[in-house]
Amino acid sequence: MRLNLNIENPDNWLPKKNPIIISGPCSVESEEQVLQTALEVSKSNKVSILRGGIWKPRTRPNSFEGVGEEGLPWLKQAGKAVGLPVATEVANADHVEACLKNNIDMLWIGARTTVNPFSVQEIADALKGVDIPVFVKNPITPDINLWVGALERINAVGIKKLGAIHRGFSSFDKSSYRNTPMWEIPIELKLMCPQIPMICDPSHIAGDKELIPYVSQKAIDLDMEGLMIESHINPLVARSDAKQQVAPLELGKILHDLIIREKHSESEEFINKLEQLRSIIDELDEELINKFSSRMSIIQKIGEYKHENNVTILQLERWEQILKNRSFLADKVGLSDDFIKKMLELVHQESIRVQTQVMNQK
Ligand code: PEP
Ligand code: MN
Repeated sequence: MRLNLNIENPDNWLPKKNPIIISGPCSVESEEQVLQTALEVSKSNKVSILRGGIWKPRTRPNSFEGVGEEGLPWLKQAGKAVGLPVATEVANADHVEACLKNNIDMLWIGARTTVNPFSVQEIADALKGVDIPVFVKNPITPDINLWVGALERINAVGIKKLGAIHRGFSSFDKSSYRNTPMWEIPIELKLMCPQIPMICDPSHIAGDKELIPYVSQKAIDLDMEGLMIESHINPLVARSDAKQQVAPLELGKILHDLIIREKHSESEEFINKLEQLRSIIDELDEELINKFSSRMSIIQKIGEYKHENNVTILQLERWEQILKNRSFLADKVGLSDDFIKKMLELVHQESIRVQTQVMNQK
């Protein structure tokens, strides 16, 4: 499904940098802290937007909830001092009003706000008739429609300078990430709306500064337009997200080490070779589809036999046996166990669906 968003070409309103780097502290804590951070992060010459949280949506009460409106001029001044536009998070109409009053250059909607259509609509209404770039972070839950809905609400009031920020998804499972990236979701959004600039926020995905270089490189390799990386002049004393904030020097190193790849290559040899390999992939995919089709016709027959003999569709032992045996086979040819398991689960689900259909038809 293609989205019908009216987005202005990012070349007209985003810094022409590859990639666009948004950096600055998680929270603006004092005039001095944001200014010093700005002066230091801008030394790399790679940062093109200064960020700083003013109102912080904290999970539990009694944590530092941001300095509030008082911090807006500090952020703006710090941006001016280094010649960078500034961006902050807004979660309601009052925040929008305060940002506009203080000439904040860009806004973003946080992950905890994107989940709530009432809040998003309130922000959209406050932005009616205003021409300011707005980024929408993905909702904390892995629901692409909430993300799309928020973009649509903001776009519907006339905001055409619109971007998306991928910051990962909250998950019950224990994982090495603070927020699971689920890369397939921003990729799906890009398919639905190819013109939208997609910025990755490796800081909130990683939750730990050690993982930031890896997540950043992955985002760049997935052709995302930019990165939002939290940086603090002294991360050890940061009042929010201390573990994931990098010192400006560390930021410089992360940016320096990033490998920027080209979207395309003009080399004839590369183009020919790629074409050859892709035609082999096309044939293999066709074979796979034919094999799946043969497999499904057998499933159909099995469904009929089970029905004739009044036997349940699910046969747990058989399923266990399949998983074990295929995992062994996959391992022998160097395929990842996780991939084969996910693929089999999909196939098994479809087989159950087909057999259920057969049973109900009879
Ligand atoms: C932030 O950018 O500091 C922030 C609170 O992010 P998120 O909305 O992604 O949690
Ligand atoms: Mn943060």
